[in-house]
Amino acid sequence: MINKTRKKIKELLHQNKEQVEILVMGWIRTRRDSKGGFSFLEINDGSCLKNLQVIVDHNVDSFERNSGKIHTGSCVSIIGKLVHSPGKGQSVELQAMIIEVYGEADPDNYPLQKKNHTFEFLREIAHLRPRTNTFGAVMRVRNRLSFAIHNFFQDRGFIYLNTPIITTNDCEGAGEMFQVTTLNVDSIPKVDGSVDYSRDFFGEKTGLTVSGQLEGEVYAMALSDIYTFGPTFRAENSNTSRHLSEFWMVEPEMAFYDLEDDMNLAEDFLRYLFKDVLEHCLEDLEFFNQQIDKTLLKRHQVVIDNQFERVSYSKAIELLGESNKAFNYSVEWGNNLQSEHERYISEEVFEKPVIIYDYPEEIKPFYMKANSDGKTVRAMDVLLPKLGEIIGGSQREEDYNVLLNRMKIKNLNPDDYKWYLDLRRFGSAPHAGFGLGFERLVQFVTGMENIRDVIPFPRTPKNARF
Ligand code: ATP
Ligand code: MN
Repeated sequence: MINKTRKKIKELLHQNKEQVEILVMGWIRTRRDSKGGFSFLEINDGSCLKNLQVIVDHNVDSFERNSGKIHTGSCVSIIGKLVHSPGKGQSVELQAMIIEVYGEADPDNYPLQKKNHTFEFLREIAHLRPRTNTFGAVMRVRNRLSFAIHNFFQDRGFIYLNTPIITTNDCEGAGEMFQVTTLNVDSIPKVDGSVDYSRDFFGEKTGLTVSGQLEGEVYAMALSDIYTFGPTFRAENSNTSRHLSEFWMVEPEMAFYDLEDDMNLAEDFLRYLFKDVLEHCLEDLEFFNQQIDKTLLKRHQVVIDNQFERVSYSKAIELLGESNKAFNYSVEWGNNLQSEHERYISEEVFEKPVIIYDYPEEIKPFYMKANSDGKTVRAMDVLLPKLGEIIGGSQREEDYNVLLNRMKIKNLNPDDYKWYLDLRRFGSAPHAGFGLGFERLVQFVTGMENIRDVIPFPRTPKNARF
């Protein structure tokens, strides 16, 4: 047993009393030798951003034997004495008594030398990038956010629900699906010219889920408040800095909520997450504020301090029309808002988060509740400055006949949605929900430019390495 008495660096850095016989393990970030016969090592074990400074007296027995293996990237185990540090930037340092090397990292080949690497380069070495300051910080923030998401919902009595990953329903055009099949793609069985799915594994066409919403509604109609938090897949060829082919989505679904309740929850949720992460990851966020985006903490404060602006889609179209800005996509009532429009409204018009609601019926899925104007549905999107859409949600249509009618208008086959329609036949209730893209949240919180850099192993078109 080697782990029992080991101390994590985060814990040591928070101590101010001197101690003998401390055991730490971690990876060397830098080594500097002094003329006086000492080596200064910076050790990191991922528990926090800061390194532990270790001073190795060259007279220590184990130094002689290991010196050639002690360099950037090597993994070491050190027993030493924790003492107050006279140096700037740290309160304690470790005076090594024994230093052993678990694994060295040949300096001629180890790719993470001290200089700053581009994020593009680091994506090529996604197996080593967690050892950089930036990726350590991203993953700690990501971890805290996911914990805070559970806390938020659990505190409010929501039930955590795991919806299926393999599914036959496509959530009506939420996104293109990846197909799941065990058919031999080199010789696909066919009847009358089309694929014979009766011979496929599930006996019908299946894919990876694009949203757990429809299944979430089933459980909201029994447990009142549920949320999902799981992987979501979209086979879209969108090579942007905000789209992944595999991402994580949080989808709460609530019985007895209308659109206003839904918007209130989304707003409380985001504000809670920003406060929580500020409280628990301040060191990492200050690092991002310094290294990645100097306006980051200011933007966080804007989210925490302000009510989100709420504007109808129609009003948003007016604002865009009055703007005199040259957009790439035309602004016209009935068109989808593009990211440039969303960013203009949240960044330039209101300079804070904005919720746009009541979208045209034609551009939204069949399940959204119709407004009495005959033109719009009770949908809402939450937009953040610099990012655009982070949440999309709606009140769901709870009336059986209205829903059936909307399916027909949208050329959907009601037979495919029998169980979904049943929710409106038996004990229907007003209900609403939304979906939050988890990586978009991590992106906004950290200020990272590219969504590929806030998930451990990004999947994007033409890339599923690692
Ligand atoms: P967008 O218009 O930005 O592509 P969408 O309207 O297709 O998103 P929804 O179906 O409303 O997205 O999904 C809910 C949320 O999931 C979005 O608000 C966003 O935060 C996130 N999301 C959607 N697609 C992706 C993706 N490809 N990669 C990462 N996050 C995504
Ligand atoms: Mn959306």
